[in-house]
Amino acid sequence: SLDGKTAVITGSNSGIGLGIAREMARAGADVVLNSFTDNDEDHALAAGLAKEFGVTARYIQADMSKADQCRGLIEKAGRCDILINNAGIQHVAPVEEFPTEKWDAIIAINLNSAFHTIAAALPMMRKAGWGRVINIASAHGLTASPYKSAYIAAKHGIVGLTKTVGLETAEDPITSNAICPGYVLTPLVEAQIPDQMKTHNMGRDEVVRDVMLARQPSKEFATVEQMGGTAVFLCSDAAAQITGTTISVDGGWTAL
Ligand code: NAD
Repeated sequence: SLDGKTAVITGSNSGIGLGIAREMARAGADVVLNSFTDNDEDHALAAGLAKEFGVTARYIQADMSKADQCRGLIEKAGRCDILINNAGIQHVAPVEEFPTEKWDAIIAINLNSAFHTIAAALPMMRKAGWGRVINIASAHGLTASPYKSAYIAAKHGIVGLTKTVGLETAEDPITSNAICPGYVLTPLVEAQIPDQMKTHNMGRDEVVRDVMLARQPSKEFATVEQMGGTAVFLCSDAAAQITGTTISVDGGWTAL
């Protein structure tokens, strides 16, 4: 059980981050949710987790594209035993047409933010005598696809950062790992299905199988609960010697 531990999950008011926060809370951890917005719904998500799982849950607004706000998130959390770097955005364009501001935003949110949160959290973990750094990379942290240059550069970068932090904490009771999801069914992905059906003039099952999951041999989406379960496993004693590496949850994508 993760009783008494505090998990800070960046970008966790939707999708995978929220799914991981739920599994952390189910396992008994106090949780800090985050995104760049500051709406009633954001705070209601935290209140809902607290009520459902009987843990302390807070929502802390911080923009992960800003170095000082990344470090501020960890400082405001006050404690960070489990750090999950999940915030991420995507943009698709050929490299010679890729807008510079999109490149910069993707590198800032998907990669630089993790440097800042890790730098702020490691002293807290060392002081507490236990810690887990879990970075949400991607199958695109290990392989490439055309037109996603910034995302793939950032995700490969976070895999490298994960390994380096694993080495720098190797003799401490702290581990650093990356989860590399394949295609995960989130509300955002769900919302793309009707458009893809129209574009390809296909039914739902066909577009999911042959278009969206073309590279996922299992022909099934991974789920946010599976991401959360993998993160909880990485916090267990069984995973204490797993460090500086990646765990793929991708239905066989990277085996191809
Ligand atoms: P999502 O869009 O549902 O979630 C992204 C989260 O990041 C949201 O909570 C959003 O509010 C937050 N965010 C965006 N910009 C931010 C900023 N500047 N500051 C703070 N928070 C910010 O998408 P998701 O699919 O849940 O993606 C979560 C992570 O998983 C990302 O890093 C993504 O690259 C990775 N991933 C997703 C898939 C997939 O198939 N969905 C596959 C591989 C990896």
